[in-house]
Amino acid sequence: METTTQKTVHNFNAGPSILPRSVFQEASAALLDFNGTGLSILEIGHRTSLFQPIMDEAIGQLKELMALDSDHEVMFLHGGASTQFFQVPMNLLNQGQRAAYTDTGVWASKAVKEARLYGGVDVVCSSADKGYTYLPKQFSVDPRTTYLHLTSNNTIYGTQWANFDLFYEKDVPLVADMSSDILSRRVDFNRFGLIYAGAQKNIGAAGVNVVVVDQTILGKVNRPLPTMMDYRNHIEAGSMLNTPPVFAVYLCMLTLRWLKARGGVAAIEVENERKAKLLYDTIDALPLFRGTVDREDRSRMNVCFVMDDPAQEKEFLATCAAEGMVGVKGHRTAGGFRVSLYNALPYESVEALTSLMRHVAQKKG
Ligand SMILES: *Cc1c(COP(=O)(O)O)cnc(C)c1O
Repeated sequence: METTTQKTVHNFNAGPSILPRSVFQEASAALLDFNGTGLSILEIGHRTSLFQPIMDEAIGQLKELMALDSDHEVMFLHGGASTQFFQVPMNLLNQGQRAAYTDTGVWASKAVKEARLYGGVDVVCSSADKGYTYLPKQFSVDPRTTYLHLTSNNTIYGTQWANFDLFYEKDVPLVADMSSDILSRRVDFNRFGLIYAGAQKNIGAAGVNVVVVDQTILGKVNRPLPTMMDYRNHIEAGSMLNTPPVFAVYLCMLTLRWLKARGGVAAIEVENERKAKLLYDTIDALPLFRGTVDREDRSRMNVCFVMDDPAQEKEFLATCAAEGMVGVKGHRTAGGFRVSLYNALPYESVEALTSLMRHVAQKKG
């Protein structure tokens, strides 16, 4: 359905963000006529032989791409990652028990706030003292803690845990918000008790979030859980406890299929590294720009940088806009620039941006 008049855009949005063009093409066709049925994907029952294979494939693809073992189950749920901020402690943390949280950004601190509604919370480390521009690595965790919560990639500030060795060492169940870097690099997902992610950054369309849980950690709280909040019910119902967000799940399925055809997580990791390297190398080579986070903690998904003069930043953003580059402006709380390099972003977009940066730097002499 691509028209020759559609303008070329380089989409660096932080989320919702770029998805593969081929996914949009297939999804737009399915909006009008799904698989030759004469029906739109939006007007078919979810408990039908038309939709069931979509849900099955979405769950199956995710299990395969993440190489999950048989203890780990996958759910597609409503409510975005923010719902998981409370659904996680509701299902895992008894009143009177304690959970440990790492405070590495706004999303992490929102998770802390919600967990406090259900049990004790120990914030074991924080990088708030320096505006979340680094990752705090010196901390200890009580071995009796129910779980340790981390944010794998801090979308707003552009920090990312390079690996999770530090967390594995603590030898307690790990819970991770992986909203903005899930499926972007190889991770031993089976080492986590629970992983959650809003779909709108690397998995698919907004409106659905993915929860991966080691089933052996469930069923240990004694509070009554509303039916829709109890993970066990969703697992048992195959993510069809009620009407799922069918179109959002469909888009996830198509995107996961695309990722697999692309070579899976290991292959996309190589592409993501290459994109991030080009952008960071450019920032480091040009005195006009300055990266804002500690080098060892730099995110391969969200690259944050500034210019020293706010007037020049405004001018650079205008230049980007004129060149069809969207989503370059930093988050309102962090300022400067934030360029997101999610899975679907082509290398060519990073080339376009970095050549513009070099051009602007040259002009300024
Ligand atoms: C985007 C984001 C969220 C919030 O996701 P919603 O789906 O809007 O609730 C939470 N955590 C991280 C790390 C994010 O990047």
